[in-house]
Amino acid sequence: MAKKKENLGSVKRFGARYGRRIKHKLARIESIQRGKHKCPYCHNLKVKRLSAGIWKCRKCGAKFTGKAYSVKKVIIEEEKPEEKERSSGRESKEE
Ligand SMILES: [Zn+2]
Repeated sequence: MAKKKENLGSVKRFGARYGRRIKHKLARIESIQRGKHKCPYCHNLKVKRLSAGIWKCRKCGAKFTGKAYSVKKVIIEEEKPEEKERSSGRESKEE
């Protein structure tokens, strides 16, 4: 039986080192960090990260600050293979 292919992306640079769990965590953060984000000024999906917390829109040229790895707060789901059902109490905190 073939195992499900793990999508590590940029974290493949580490090869077989450093462990599965921490690499998966980093893969999720880095895919957000290096991806395109929505511009808060012109609403185009053209914002790229210049450095930690500094973002630039390639459409309207706006340079602004945000989070270190994303423009806005991104909730990254913890990977829990043992947990079959998601706890419903989690959403109530966001407001
Ligand atoms: Zn823009």
